[in-house]
Amino acid sequence: MLDNLTQRLAKVVKTMRGEARLTEANTAEMLREVRLALLEADVALPAVREFVARVKEKALGEEVVGSLTPGQALVGVVHDELAAIMGADLGPEATQLNFATQPPAVILMAGLQGAGKTTTVGKLAKYLREQKKKKVLTVSTDVYRPAAIGQLQTVSAQVGADFFPSQPDQKPVDIALAALDHARRQFADVLIIDTAGRLGIDEAMMQEISALHKAAKPIETLFVVDAMLGQDAINTARAFNEALPLTGIVLTKLDGDARGGAALSVRHITGKPIKFAGVAEKLDGLEAFDPQRMANRILGMGDIVALVEEARKGVDIEAAQDLAQKIKGGGKFDLNDFKAQLSQMKKMGGLSNMMDKLPAQFQQAANGANMDQAEKQVRRMEGIINSMTPAERSKPELIKASRKRRIATGAGVPVQEVNRMLAQFEQMQSMMKKLKGGGMMKMMRSMKG
Ligand code: GDP
Repeated sequence: MLDNLTQRLAKVVKTMRGEARLTEANTAEMLREVRLALLEADVALPAVREFVARVKEKALGEEVVGSLTPGQALVGVVHDELAAIMGADLGPEATQLNFATQPPAVILMAGLQGAGKTTTVGKLAKYLREQKKKKVLTVSTDVYRPAAIGQLQTVSAQVGADFFPSQPDQKPVDIALAALDHARRQFADVLIIDTAGRLGIDEAMMQEISALHKAAKPIETLFVVDAMLGQDAINTARAFNEALPLTGIVLTKLDGDARGGAALSVRHITGKPIKFAGVAEKLDGLEAFDPQRMANRILGMGDIVALVEEARKGVDIEAAQDLAQKIKGGGKFDLNDFKAQLSQMKKMGGLSNMMDKLPAQFQQAANGANMDQAEKQVRRMEGIINSMTPAERSKPELIKASRKRRIATGAGVPVQEVNRMLAQFEQMQSMMKKLKGGGMMKMMRSMKG
Protein backbone atom coordinates (compact mmCIF):
# COMPACT_ATOMS: atom_id res chain seq x y z
CA MET A 1 0.00 0.00 0.00
CA LEU A 2 2.72 2.42 0.90
CA ASP A 3 5.23 1.21 -1.67
CA ASN A 4 5.53 4.74 -2.87
CA LEU A 5 6.62 5.95 0.51
CA THR A 6 9.59 3.65 0.39
CA GLN A 7 10.44 4.72 -3.13
CA ARG A 8 10.06 8.36 -2.36
CA LEU A 9 12.15 8.06 0.77
CA ALA A 10 14.81 6.23 -1.19
CA LYS A 11 14.90 9.11 -3.62
CA VAL A 12 15.28 11.60 -0.82
CA VAL A 13 18.06 9.61 0.81
CA LYS A 14 19.83 9.60 -2.52
CA THR A 15 19.42 13.25 -3.37
CA MET A 16 20.41 14.27 0.13
CA ARG A 17 23.70 12.42 -0.04
CA GLY A 18 25.81 15.49 -0.41
CA GLU A 19 24.13 17.44 2.37
CA ALA A 20 25.89 17.72 5.69
CA ARG A 21 22.91 18.32 7.95
CA LEU A 22 19.16 18.61 8.20
CA THR A 23 17.92 22.06 7.37
CA GLU A 24 14.55 23.68 6.92
CA ALA A 25 15.10 23.54 3.16
CA ASN A 26 16.20 19.94 2.63
CA THR A 27 13.70 18.69 5.20
CA ALA A 28 10.89 20.44 3.36
CA GLU A 29 11.69 18.50 0.20
CA MET A 30 11.62 15.23 2.10
CA LEU A 31 8.37 16.10 3.86
CA ARG A 32 6.76 16.86 0.53
CA GLU A 33 7.62 13.35 -0.63
CA VAL A 34 6.29 11.81 2.58
CA ARG A 35 3.08 13.78 2.27
CA LEU A 36 2.53 12.77 -1.36
CA ALA A 37 3.27 9.14 -0.65
CA LEU A 38 0.80 8.98 2.22
CA LEU A 39 -1.90 10.71 0.20
CA GLU A 40 -1.31 8.37 -2.73
CA ALA A 41 -1.71 5.50 -0.31
CA ASP A 42 -5.15 6.72 0.75
CA VAL A 43 -4.13 7.75 4.19
CA ALA A 44 -6.69 10.27 5.46
CA LEU A 45 -5.68 13.91 4.98
CA PRO A 46 -5.88 14.93 8.65
CA ALA A 47 -3.71 11.93 9.55
CA VAL A 48 -1.19 12.97 6.91
CA ARG A 49 -1.11 16.54 8.18
CA GLU A 50 -0.58 15.55 11.76
CA PHE A 51 2.09 13.08 10.81
CA VAL A 52 4.04 15.49 8.62
CA ALA A 53 3.96 18.17 11.32
CA ARG A 54 5.35 15.75 13.88
CA VAL A 55 8.11 14.56 11.60
CA LYS A 56 9.10 18.12 10.78
CA GLU A 57 9.39 19.11 14.40
CA LYS A 58 11.52 16.08 15.25
CA ALA A 59 13.68 16.26 12.15
CA LEU A 60 14.79 19.82 12.67
CA GLY A 61 15.79 18.98 16.21
CA GLU A 62 17.58 15.80 15.18
CA GLU A 63 21.31 15.80 15.29
CA VAL A 64 22.89 13.89 12.48
CA VAL A 65 25.27 11.53 14.19
CA GLY A 66 28.55 10.15 12.93
CA SER A 67 28.22 8.40 9.65
CA LEU A 68 24.49 8.84 9.16
CA THR A 69 23.54 10.88 6.18
CA PRO A 70 20.80 13.45 6.76
CA GLY A 71 18.62 11.31 4.51
CA GLN A 72 19.11 8.27 6.72
CA ALA A 73 18.51 10.35 9.82
CA LEU A 74 15.22 11.52 8.34
CA VAL A 75 14.17 7.98 7.58
CA GLY A 76 14.86 7.21 11.23
CA VAL A 77 12.61 10.06 12.29
CA VAL A 78 9.85 8.96 9.92
CA HIS A 79 10.10 5.46 11.33
CA ASP A 80 9.91 6.55 14.95
CA GLU A 81 6.99 8.86 14.31
CA LEU A 82 5.10 6.19 12.40
CA ALA A 83 5.46 3.90 15.39
CA ALA A 84 4.41 6.67 17.77
CA ILE A 85 1.34 7.62 15.79
CA MET A 86 0.25 4.00 15.58
CA GLY A 87 0.26 3.64 19.31
CA ALA A 88 3.83 3.36 20.60
CA ASP A 89 3.16 6.59 22.49
CA LEU A 90 0.14 5.08 24.25
CA GLY A 91 2.31 2.64 26.18
CA PRO A 92 2.03 -1.15 26.25
CA GLU A 93 -1.15 -1.31 28.39
CA ALA A 94 -3.17 0.31 25.62
CA THR A 95 -3.16 -2.90 23.62
CA GLN A 96 -4.35 -5.09 26.50
CA LEU A 97 -7.92 -6.32 26.73
CA ASN A 98 -9.84 -4.98 29.68
CA PHE A 99 -11.35 -7.55 32.08
CA ALA A 100 -12.06 -5.19 34.95
CA THR A 101 -15.71 -6.10 35.29
CA GLN A 102 -18.01 -8.58 36.93
CA PRO A 103 -17.69 -11.72 34.79
CA PRO A 104 -18.55 -12.50 32.13
CA ALA A 105 -16.51 -9.82 30.37
CA VAL A 106 -18.42 -9.22 27.16
CA ILE A 107 -16.50 -8.59 23.93
CA LEU A 108 -18.56 -7.25 21.02
CA MET A 109 -17.15 -7.65 17.52
CA ALA A 110 -18.04 -5.04 14.89
CA GLY A 111 -17.05 -4.67 11.26
CA LEU A 112 -18.03 -5.22 7.65
CA GLN A 113 -18.78 -8.61 6.19
CA GLY A 114 -15.57 -10.36 5.25
CA ALA A 115 -13.45 -8.22 7.56
CA GLY A 116 -12.54 -11.32 9.52
CA LYS A 117 -14.84 -11.05 12.53
CA THR A 118 -15.74 -14.72 12.89
CA THR A 119 -12.18 -15.84 12.35
CA THR A 120 -11.01 -13.30 14.91
CA VAL A 121 -13.57 -14.57 17.45
CA GLY A 122 -11.99 -18.00 17.09
CA LYS A 123 -8.48 -16.59 17.38
CA LEU A 124 -9.39 -14.52 20.42
CA ALA A 125 -11.12 -17.45 22.10
CA LYS A 126 -8.01 -19.55 21.57
CA TYR A 127 -5.75 -16.79 22.88
CA LEU A 128 -7.94 -16.17 25.94
CA ARG A 129 -8.22 -19.86 26.76
CA GLU A 130 -4.58 -20.71 26.28
CA GLN A 131 -2.76 -17.56 27.33
CA LYS A 132 -5.17 -16.11 29.88
CA LYS A 133 -6.78 -19.33 31.15
CA LYS A 134 -10.28 -17.95 30.60
CA LYS A 135 -13.48 -19.92 30.16
CA VAL A 136 -14.88 -18.58 26.91
CA LEU A 137 -18.38 -18.69 25.43
CA THR A 138 -19.09 -17.55 21.87
CA VAL A 139 -22.36 -16.60 20.17
CA SER A 140 -23.34 -15.39 16.70
CA THR A 141 -26.08 -12.83 16.14
CA ASP A 142 -25.78 -13.06 12.36
CA VAL A 143 -29.33 -14.23 11.67
CA TYR A 144 -29.10 -13.24 8.01
CA ARG A 145 -26.56 -15.86 7.06
CA PRO A 146 -27.20 -19.24 8.70
CA ALA A 147 -23.83 -20.33 7.34
CA ALA A 148 -22.21 -17.68 9.53
CA ILE A 149 -23.65 -19.27 12.66
CA GLY A 150 -22.37 -22.65 11.51
CA GLN A 151 -18.97 -21.15 10.80
CA LEU A 152 -18.69 -19.80 14.34
CA GLN A 153 -19.76 -23.16 15.75
CA THR A 154 -17.01 -24.91 13.80
CA VAL A 155 -14.36 -22.38 14.75
CA SER A 156 -15.36 -22.51 18.43
CA ALA A 157 -15.13 -26.30 18.47
CA GLN A 158 -11.66 -26.08 16.91
CA VAL A 159 -10.36 -23.92 19.73
CA GLY A 160 -12.27 -25.64 22.54
CA ALA A 161 -14.55 -22.70 23.36
CA ASP A 162 -18.19 -23.20 24.38
CA PHE A 163 -20.66 -22.16 21.72
CA PHE A 164 -24.16 -20.81 22.35
CA PRO A 165 -26.44 -21.86 19.45
CA SER A 166 -28.79 -19.39 17.81
CA GLN A 167 -31.49 -19.61 15.10
CA PRO A 168 -32.09 -17.46 12.01
CA ASP A 169 -35.63 -16.62 13.19
CA GLN A 170 -34.46 -15.01 16.46
CA LYS A 171 -33.78 -11.32 17.04
CA PRO A 172 -30.10 -10.40 17.48
CA VAL A 173 -30.68 -8.61 20.81
CA ASP A 174 -32.64 -11.58 22.18
CA ILE A 175 -29.83 -13.93 21.19
CA ALA A 176 -27.24 -11.75 22.90
CA LEU A 177 -29.25 -11.53 26.13
CA ALA A 178 -29.90 -15.27 26.18
CA ALA A 179 -26.20 -15.92 25.63
CA LEU A 180 -25.30 -13.53 28.42
CA ASP A 181 -27.67 -15.29 30.76
CA HIS A 182 -26.20 -18.65 29.80
CA ALA A 183 -22.65 -17.33 30.27
CA ARG A 184 -23.52 -16.17 33.80
CA ARG A 185 -25.05 -19.49 34.75
CA GLN A 186 -22.09 -21.40 33.33
CA PHE A 187 -19.60 -19.09 35.07
CA ALA A 188 -17.92 -18.17 31.82
CA ASP A 189 -15.19 -15.55 32.19
CA VAL A 190 -15.69 -14.12 28.73
CA LEU A 191 -18.57 -13.94 26.25
CA ILE A 192 -17.61 -13.02 22.69
CA ILE A 193 -20.49 -11.80 20.53
CA ASP A 194 -20.05 -12.10 16.77
CA THR A 195 -22.29 -9.82 14.74
CA ALA A 196 -23.65 -9.57 11.21
CA GLY A 197 -21.70 -7.44 8.80
CA ARG A 198 -22.77 -5.94 5.50
CA LEU A 199 -20.74 -5.39 2.39
CA GLY A 200 -20.85 -1.66 2.96
CA ILE A 201 -21.88 0.79 5.63
CA ASP A 202 -25.58 0.44 6.17
CA GLU A 203 -27.97 2.28 8.46
CA ALA A 204 -29.86 -0.85 9.55
CA MET A 205 -26.63 -2.61 10.46
CA MET A 206 -25.50 0.35 12.55
CA GLN A 207 -28.79 0.49 14.40
CA GLU A 208 -28.68 -3.20 15.07
CA ILE A 209 -25.18 -3.17 16.48
CA SER A 210 -25.94 -0.10 18.62
CA ALA A 211 -28.91 -1.96 20.06
CA LEU A 212 -26.70 -4.97 20.74
CA HIS A 213 -24.20 -2.69 22.46
CA LYS A 214 -26.89 -1.19 24.70
CA ALA A 215 -28.28 -4.58 25.64
CA ALA A 216 -25.08 -6.54 26.21
CA LYS A 217 -22.98 -3.70 27.72
CA PRO A 218 -19.64 -5.00 26.47
CA ILE A 219 -16.46 -3.95 28.24
CA GLU A 220 -14.63 -4.32 24.92
CA THR A 221 -16.07 -3.27 21.57
CA LEU A 222 -13.58 -4.24 18.92
CA PHE A 223 -13.72 -2.88 15.39
CA VAL A 224 -12.40 -5.49 13.00
CA VAL A 225 -10.99 -4.07 9.77
CA ASP A 226 -9.30 -5.60 6.76
CA ALA A 227 -5.85 -4.06 6.30
CA MET A 228 -6.18 -4.42 2.55
CA LEU A 229 -8.96 -1.82 2.35
CA GLY A 230 -7.75 1.56 1.20
CA GLN A 231 -9.82 4.71 1.50
CA ASP A 232 -12.79 2.49 2.43
CA ALA A 233 -11.15 1.62 5.70
CA ILE A 234 -11.33 5.28 6.64
CA ASN A 235 -15.04 5.68 5.92
CA THR A 236 -15.89 2.40 7.59
CA ALA A 237 -13.87 3.26 10.67
CA ARG A 238 -15.53 6.65 10.90
CA ALA A 239 -19.02 5.18 10.64
CA PHE A 240 -18.43 2.50 13.27
CA ASN A 241 -16.66 4.93 15.56
CA GLU A 242 -19.64 7.28 15.41
CA ALA A 243 -22.18 4.53 15.99
CA LEU A 244 -20.34 2.76 18.84
CA PRO A 245 -17.98 3.60 21.68
CA LEU A 246 -15.16 1.46 20.32
CA THR A 247 -12.47 0.34 22.74
CA GLY A 248 -10.02 -1.09 20.26
CA ILE A 249 -9.22 -2.19 16.74
CA VAL A 250 -8.26 -5.50 15.21
CA LEU A 251 -6.40 -5.17 11.92
CA THR A 252 -6.76 -8.37 9.90
CA LYS A 253 -5.05 -9.92 6.87
CA LEU A 254 -1.70 -8.36 7.51
CA ASP A 255 -0.17 -11.51 6.08
CA GLY A 256 -1.39 -10.42 2.63
CA ASP A 257 0.00 -7.72 0.40
CA ALA A 258 -1.29 -4.98 2.64
CA ARG A 259 1.45 -2.80 3.93
CA GLY A 260 -0.57 -1.44 6.77
CA GLY A 261 -1.43 2.06 5.61
CA ALA A 262 -4.94 1.44 6.94
CA ALA A 263 -3.44 1.19 10.42
CA LEU A 264 -2.42 4.81 10.20
CA SER A 265 -5.81 6.16 9.11
CA VAL A 266 -7.92 3.95 11.33
CA ARG A 267 -5.86 4.79 14.35
CA HIS A 268 -6.07 8.48 13.56
CA ILE A 269 -9.79 8.56 12.74
CA THR A 270 -10.92 6.59 15.77
CA GLY A 271 -8.21 7.62 18.23
CA LYS A 272 -8.52 4.05 19.53
CA PRO A 273 -5.63 1.68 20.05
CA ILE A 274 -5.02 -1.14 17.63
CA LYS A 275 -5.02 -4.12 19.96
CA PHE A 276 -4.47 -7.10 17.69
CA ALA A 277 -3.25 -7.97 14.24
CA GLY A 278 -4.48 -10.93 12.20
CA VAL A 279 -1.52 -12.47 10.43
CA ALA A 280 -2.87 -15.76 9.08
CA GLU A 281 -6.09 -17.52 8.23
CA LYS A 282 -5.25 -20.16 10.81
CA LEU A 283 -6.63 -19.76 14.30
CA ASP A 284 -3.24 -19.14 15.85
CA GLY A 285 -2.69 -16.22 13.46
CA LEU A 286 -3.38 -13.45 15.94
CA GLU A 287 -0.69 -11.21 17.39
CA ALA A 288 -0.67 -8.43 19.91
CA PHE A 289 -0.28 -5.31 17.79
CA ASP A 290 3.26 -3.99 17.69
CA PRO A 291 3.58 -0.38 16.44
CA GLN A 292 7.34 -0.69 15.89
CA ARG A 293 6.96 -3.72 13.71
CA MET A 294 4.15 -2.04 11.80
CA ALA A 295 6.31 1.01 11.18
CA ASN A 296 8.95 -1.27 9.68
CA ARG A 297 6.34 -2.88 7.53
CA ILE A 298 4.93 0.39 6.26
CA LEU A 299 8.36 1.66 5.40
CA GLY A 300 9.10 -1.70 3.82
CA MET A 301 12.59 -1.56 5.20
CA GLY A 302 12.88 -4.42 7.63
CA ASP A 303 16.09 -3.38 9.24
CA ILE A 304 16.38 0.31 8.65
CA VAL A 305 16.71 0.84 12.35
CA ALA A 306 19.40 -1.80 12.63
CA LEU A 307 21.18 -0.11 9.77
CA VAL A 308 20.98 3.25 11.46
CA GLU A 309 22.35 1.75 14.67
CA GLU A 310 25.14 0.07 12.81
CA ALA A 311 26.04 3.23 11.01
CA ARG A 312 26.17 5.02 14.34
CA LYS A 313 28.68 2.63 15.83
CA GLY A 314 30.37 1.55 12.61
CA VAL A 315 32.59 4.45 11.78
CA ASP A 316 35.53 5.10 14.00
CA ILE A 317 35.05 8.81 14.29
CA GLU A 318 38.32 9.33 16.11
CA ALA A 319 40.34 7.59 13.44
CA ALA A 320 38.65 9.69 10.80
CA GLN A 321 39.40 12.84 12.74
CA ASP A 322 43.03 11.84 13.24
CA LEU A 323 43.42 11.41 9.55
CA ALA A 324 41.71 14.71 8.87
CA GLN A 325 44.03 16.36 11.33
CA LYS A 326 47.06 14.80 9.73
CA ILE A 327 46.08 16.00 6.29
CA LYS A 328 45.20 19.45 7.52
CA GLY A 329 48.62 19.66 9.18
CA GLY A 330 50.23 19.08 5.80
CA GLY A 331 50.68 15.34 6.34
CA LYS A 332 50.64 13.02 3.38
CA PHE A 333 47.87 10.57 2.60
CA ASP A 334 49.68 7.32 1.88
CA LEU A 335 48.75 3.73 1.17
CA ASN A 336 48.59 2.96 4.90
CA ASP A 337 45.85 5.54 5.25
CA PHE A 338 44.17 4.20 2.16
CA LYS A 339 44.18 0.73 3.65
CA ALA A 340 42.80 2.05 6.93
CA GLN A 341 39.94 3.56 4.96
CA LEU A 342 39.23 0.30 3.24
CA SER A 343 39.03 -1.45 6.58
CA GLN A 344 36.68 1.25 7.87
CA MET A 345 34.38 0.33 5.05
CA LYS A 346 34.55 -3.29 6.07
CA LYS A 347 33.85 -2.39 9.69
CA MET A 348 30.63 -0.84 8.61
CA GLY A 349 29.52 -4.38 8.00
CA GLY A 350 30.72 -4.69 4.46
CA LEU A 351 29.09 -3.02 1.52
CA SER A 352 26.77 -5.80 0.51
CA ASN A 353 25.81 -6.40 4.11
CA MET A 354 24.81 -2.79 4.42
CA MET A 355 22.91 -2.93 1.20
CA ASP A 356 21.14 -6.11 2.28
CA LYS A 357 19.65 -4.25 5.19
CA LEU A 358 17.97 -1.81 2.90
CA PRO A 359 14.72 -2.68 1.15
CA ALA A 360 14.70 -3.67 -2.47
CA GLN A 361 13.69 -0.25 -3.66
CA PHE A 362 16.73 1.28 -1.98
CA GLN A 363 18.95 -1.25 -3.61
CA GLN A 364 17.54 -0.34 -6.99
CA ALA A 365 17.99 3.30 -6.15
CA ALA A 366 21.68 2.60 -5.75
CA ASN A 367 21.70 2.41 -9.55
CA GLY A 368 21.99 -1.32 -9.63
CA ALA A 369 25.56 -1.11 -8.40
CA ASN A 370 26.77 -4.63 -7.91
CA MET A 371 27.66 -4.59 -4.26
CA ASP A 372 29.06 -8.10 -4.08
CA GLN A 373 31.41 -7.14 -6.83
CA ALA A 374 32.35 -3.92 -5.07
CA GLU A 375 33.07 -5.77 -1.88
CA LYS A 376 35.23 -8.33 -3.62
CA GLN A 377 37.15 -5.51 -5.13
CA VAL A 378 37.75 -3.91 -1.76
CA ARG A 379 39.17 -7.20 -0.54
CA ARG A 380 41.45 -7.50 -3.55
CA MET A 381 42.68 -3.97 -3.06
CA GLU A 382 43.55 -4.83 0.51
CA GLY A 383 45.37 -7.92 -0.71
CA ILE A 384 47.45 -5.79 -3.03
CA ILE A 385 48.41 -3.35 -0.30
CA ASN A 386 49.31 -6.28 1.96
CA SER A 387 51.84 -7.47 -0.60
CA MET A 388 53.74 -4.21 -0.45
CA THR A 389 56.67 -3.44 1.78
CA PRO A 390 56.26 -0.77 4.49
CA ALA A 391 58.48 1.53 2.43
CA GLU A 392 56.24 1.14 -0.61
CA ARG A 393 53.14 1.85 1.44
CA SER A 394 54.43 5.10 2.84
CA LYS A 395 56.13 6.13 -0.41
CA PRO A 396 53.93 4.87 -3.23
CA GLU A 397 56.03 6.74 -5.79
CA LEU A 398 58.66 4.01 -5.31
CA ILE A 399 56.38 1.53 -7.01
CA LYS A 400 57.69 1.15 -10.56
CA ALA A 401 57.27 -1.68 -13.09
CA SER A 402 59.38 -4.37 -11.42
CA ARG A 403 57.87 -3.74 -7.99
CA LYS A 404 54.41 -3.81 -9.52
CA ARG A 405 55.10 -7.23 -10.97
CA ARG A 406 56.31 -8.51 -7.62
CA ILE A 407 53.28 -7.10 -5.80
CA ALA A 408 50.89 -8.54 -8.39
CA THR A 409 52.43 -11.98 -8.03
CA GLY A 410 52.28 -11.71 -4.24
CA ALA A 411 48.59 -10.76 -4.29
CA GLY A 412 47.76 -13.22 -7.04
CA VAL A 413 46.31 -10.58 -9.37
CA PRO A 414 47.30 -9.33 -12.84
CA VAL A 415 49.58 -6.28 -12.99
CA GLN A 416 46.73 -4.21 -14.49
CA GLU A 417 44.86 -4.56 -11.25
CA VAL A 418 47.79 -3.17 -9.30
CA ASN A 419 47.78 -0.23 -11.71
CA ARG A 420 44.09 0.27 -11.28
CA MET A 421 44.38 0.22 -7.53
CA LEU A 422 47.20 2.75 -7.61
CA ALA A 423 45.13 4.98 -9.87
CA GLN A 424 42.23 4.81 -7.41
CA PHE A 425 44.62 5.60 -4.60
CA GLU A 426 45.95 8.65 -6.44
CA GLN A 427 42.44 9.82 -7.05
CA MET A 428 41.69 9.50 -3.37
CA GLN A 429 44.95 11.22 -2.52
CA SER A 430 44.13 14.24 -4.63
CA MET A 431 40.65 14.37 -3.11
CA MET A 432 42.26 14.30 0.31
CA LYS A 433 44.41 17.24 -0.58
CA LYS A 434 41.34 19.27 -1.32
CA LEU A 435 39.57 18.31 1.88
CA LYS A 436 39.95 20.29 5.02
CA GLY A 437 38.88 19.14 8.47
CA GLY A 438 35.14 18.56 8.40
CA GLY A 439 35.23 17.62 4.76
CA MET A 440 36.55 14.24 5.80
CA MET A 441 33.39 13.22 7.60
CA LYS A 442 31.36 14.53 4.76
CA MET A 443 33.21 12.37 2.33
CA MET A 444 32.85 9.26 4.45
CA ARG A 445 29.14 9.89 4.66
CA SER A 446 28.80 10.30 0.96
CA MET A 447 30.60 7.00 0.45
CA LYS A 448 27.83 5.34 2.46
CA GLY A 449 24.77 7.28 1.42
P1 GDP B 1 -16.50 -11.97 8.74
O1 GDP B 1 -17.48 -11.92 7.63
O2 GDP B 1 -16.10 -10.60 9.21
O3 GDP B 1 -16.90 -12.85 9.87
O4 GDP B 1 -15.15 -12.56 8.12
P2 GDP B 1 -14.56 -14.03 8.23
O5 GDP B 1 -14.05 -14.30 9.59
O6 GDP B 1 -15.52 -15.01 7.66
O7 GDP B 1 -13.29 -13.87 7.29
C1 GDP B 1 -13.40 -13.62 5.91
C2 GDP B 1 -12.24 -14.28 5.21
O8 GDP B 1 -11.04 -13.70 5.61
C3 GDP B 1 -12.11 -15.76 5.54
O9 GDP B 1 -11.76 -16.44 4.37
C4 GDP B 1 -10.99 -15.80 6.54
O10 GDP B 1 -10.29 -17.02 6.50
C5 GDP B 1 -10.13 -14.66 6.08
N1 GDP B 1 -9.32 -14.08 7.15
C6 GDP B 1 -9.72 -13.53 8.32
N2 GDP B 1 -8.68 -13.05 9.02
C7 GDP B 1 -7.58 -13.29 8.29
C8 GDP B 1 -6.17 -13.03 8.45
O11 GDP B 1 -5.70 -12.44 9.43
N3 GDP B 1 -5.36 -13.44 7.44
C9 GDP B 1 -5.84 -14.08 6.33
N4 GDP B 1 -4.97 -14.44 5.40
N5 GDP B 1 -7.12 -14.32 6.15
C10 GDP B 1 -7.99 -13.94 7.09
